[in-house]
Amino acid sequence: MSITDLTSMGEPQSEARKYINERLLKLKNEISDYCFQCAKCTSGCEAHKLLELEPHKIVALLKRGLIDEMVNSDIIWTCMSCFKCRERCPQKVAPVEILFALKNMAVASGKQIPGNYTQLLQSVLSIGLLQEVKTVTTRDNKTADRNQLNLPEISKPQDPMKFQTMLAKIAVEKL
Ligand code: SF4
Ligand code: SF4
Repeated sequence: MSITDLTSMGEPQSEARKYINERLLKLKNEISDYCFQCAKCTSGCEAHKLLELEPHKIVALLKRGLIDEMVNSDIIWTCMSCFKCRERCPQKVAPVEILFALKNMAVASGKQIPGNYTQLLQSVLSIGLLQEVKTVTTRDNKTADRNQLNLPEISKPQDPMKFQTMLAKIAVEKL
């Protein structure tokens, strides 16, 4: 079921809307009310091309206070966090930050998160990176690592336990 189907029966949640707007203000001084629905964010959104995410509609739903519908929808997990919507917005609105807030609300309320996110989280907790550093295949079909490409080494946490404790503390603060 799409977000549009869900919103046809939705009641506005003004407290949740206020919470997200306050969070946006605190983070980046961005207010969803300034959005005038030009859809410039959506026209450049990578997830729109592939997965039908429409960031301008996310902002419109926030303005209407239809938060639960978005928190309950899989569509919020399709955002790739490329920040293009934020760069393109003439009104300094950041749909990506709204999507972060919605994802945090979904996690805080105990909703099932997509499996890929769980894998990424486990990887961050165990090695401090989204994934192990990989080799690439060059144009002449050879395999090369970062060293062979003259790229700097990627650093990892020296003390994984300390890192995990700090990460958990930050996560709780941000929720
Ligand atoms: S968030 Fe910005 S770019 Fe997107 S529709 Fe609103 S004003 Fe336009
Ligand atoms: S950050 Fe998310 S919503 Fe914004 S343009 Fe990228 S994929 Fe689309």
